[in-house]
Amino acid sequence: MSQVIQIVRTPADLRAAMAAWRKAGLRTALVPTMGALHAGHLALVAEARRRADVVAASIFVNPKQFGPNEDFARYPRDEAGDAAKLREAGCALLFAPEVGDVYPPGFATSVKLAGLPDVLCGAARPGHFDGVATVVTKLLATARADVAVFGEKDWQQLAIVRRLAADLDLGTDIVGAPIVRDGDGLALSSRNAYLSAEERVAAVALPRALGEAAAALQAGDDVAAVLDTARGRLAAAGFGPIDYVALVDGATLVAIGAPTPGARLLAAAFLGRTRLIDNLAV
Ligand code: AMP
Repeated sequence: MSQVIQIVRTPADLRAAMAAWRKAGLRTALVPTMGALHAGHLALVAEARRRADVVAASIFVNPKQFGPNEDFARYPRDEAGDAAKLREAGCALLFAPEVGDVYPPGFATSVKLAGLPDVLCGAARPGHFDGVATVVTKLLATARADVAVFGEKDWQQLAIVRRLAADLDLGTDIVGAPIVRDGDGLALSSRNAYLSAEERVAAVALPRALGEAAAALQAGDDVAAVLDTARGRLAAAGFGPIDYVALVDGATLVAIGAPTPGARLLAAAFLGRTRLIDNLAV
């Protein structure tokens, strides 16, 4: 596909472009990202195209969702390459603002949910989900798309976005898309680029540990023992610190003591300096 992709920088221009499509009777979709796009992101665009007539993507490395000692400065950035991939994938518009377009001087609003951000990645990364909720609320309120597509890769983020979109009556349907994995099972992530060749080999222990744990849970093994075994497998493969391996209700994120319909097994752990996350349905 060699159509052009329109690139806009300001929220006002995004709003105007989306409004023009709506006025033309088109069903619109938004795919928010931080760029450094891979096949997982492009699967979100494909899902968006199935659900809408026109798709806009955003690329914004959101400083508010990075902690002071996290990787904001070194997060991979490649707008030209990303724009080409999005165009190929059939995306009609890219919203790629500067930090000052999203957070102009005097910006003072934060969107903070109760409960959902306090556990799992939120416990390990204080303030992270306030930053996510704030920027996603702004994106959804500006774009007013009919549908927005997020990856199940970031399961807690998806739960939070569903909640805030419903709570704030944003009028956009939130759709979750399945995790896209590499051949060996590692979930695709922009942060995989940080891994050394050796770490990349070791990283497969994460999906393997989760897969084995899910199978053991389905076989009726004790939840605490299964989670302990998974932590041990990660440590043995060189992961550490391990932020969590947890079995939770997929919607409320409350820890559960036995697999129930909608249960989700999630893990987050460092391999060297790189923090990897993954999750599976149980
Ligand atoms: P990010 O650019 O990492 O902020 O991710 C942007 C969107 O892409 C989020 O909704 C992620 O959940 C989603 N995403 C990232 N990696 C994957 C993957 N491997 N499979 C599916 N969705 C993904």
